[in-house]
Amino acid sequence: MIPRTAPSCQSDGTELPKWQAALANVFREPAELLQYLNLPGSLLNGANAASSSFTLRAPRGYCQRIEKGNPNDPLLRQILPLDAELIEDQHFKLDPVGDLAAMEVPGLLHKYHGRVLIITTAACAVHCRYCFRRHFPYQENRAEQNWQTAIDYICANSDIHEVILSGGDPLSLTESKLKDLTDKLLNIPHIKTLRLHTRQPIVLPERINNEFLSWLDSLPWKIVMVLHCNHANEIDAAVASALEQLQQHQVTLLNQSVLLAGVNDDAEVLINLSKKLFSHHVLPYYLHQLDKVQGAKHFAVNDEKALQLLNEIRQRLPGYLVPKLVEENAGEKSKTAII
Ligand code: SF4
Repeated sequence: MIPRTAPSCQSDGTELPKWQAALANVFREPAELLQYLNLPGSLLNGANAASSSFTLRAPRGYCQRIEKGNPNDPLLRQILPLDAELIEDQHFKLDPVGDLAAMEVPGLLHKYHGRVLIITTAACAVHCRYCFRRHFPYQENRAEQNWQTAIDYICANSDIHEVILSGGDPLSLTESKLKDLTDKLLNIPHIKTLRLHTRQPIVLPERINNEFLSWLDSLPWKIVMVLHCNHANEIDAAVASALEQLQQHQVTLLNQSVLLAGVNDDAEVLINLSKKLFSHHVLPYYLHQLDKVQGAKHFAVNDEKALQLLNEIRQRLPGYLVPKLVEENAGEKSKTAII
């Protein structure tokens, strides 16, 4: 039995959609999470200290996939604030991939040829401790308040063929808000593809409901969804069902993972992840070297080890199940392959 901590009704008394009720009930208090997972109280001080700058946020359904009593569980490591986050290092920065320098108008990044990325919202279902946007100044730099400036920029640049909805997590927005944005994009003839960067089908699979699928069906473009899954244990039956539905609605499903010490820096783990993703219609796309964001140094894996892992995977899997090992360097015109 998972305790509920927030009401599941809207102000007018009607029931919240299931996914919004789940969003409203995520774990936010380190003490509550530690107690739920039977973890030692000695972790509490560090968790409280680290969550004061980047709060704990973890859906209850996701936490059900974590092994109780195991402080080294690979899913737990992604969400539990640790005192290691407080260690500062000059190489680990607030904006490690140069997002702010690439912002053409509030909430719109134009880094690469032919595509732009819209920071649609600050909200995520989960707070991943290694997130490269964990210090991002969302308040001043998200498009949610006013799409028009971003739309005007895309209109004026006819070489933009693909629009990426990112965040935060764009699936934190309601269908009505998403439709508000895509209705405006409909009038731009040079857009051919809409891409969604999201972790929600993995951490909050109830988000993939009929209303969301109807919104997808209404869109005239090719739809690409780039998921973010780092470990096969993240894919349970509910996630598998969400992925099945997305595939049935003609969404091209790709996955990007981050190579994380203590989570997936192991060939067997990465091989299992690729196999499991593929069994649910998802192709492994990128394996990212960690973006050097302040607070995430303890997740770093060096390039030598990363390449060793990749070579092992290559020897064991067909090429289409081997993700590209890349890093993002601020100011560069594409991701950089690590070879
Ligand atoms: S879901 Fe994505 S944007 Fe949100 S905290 Fe995790 S990595 Fe960052």
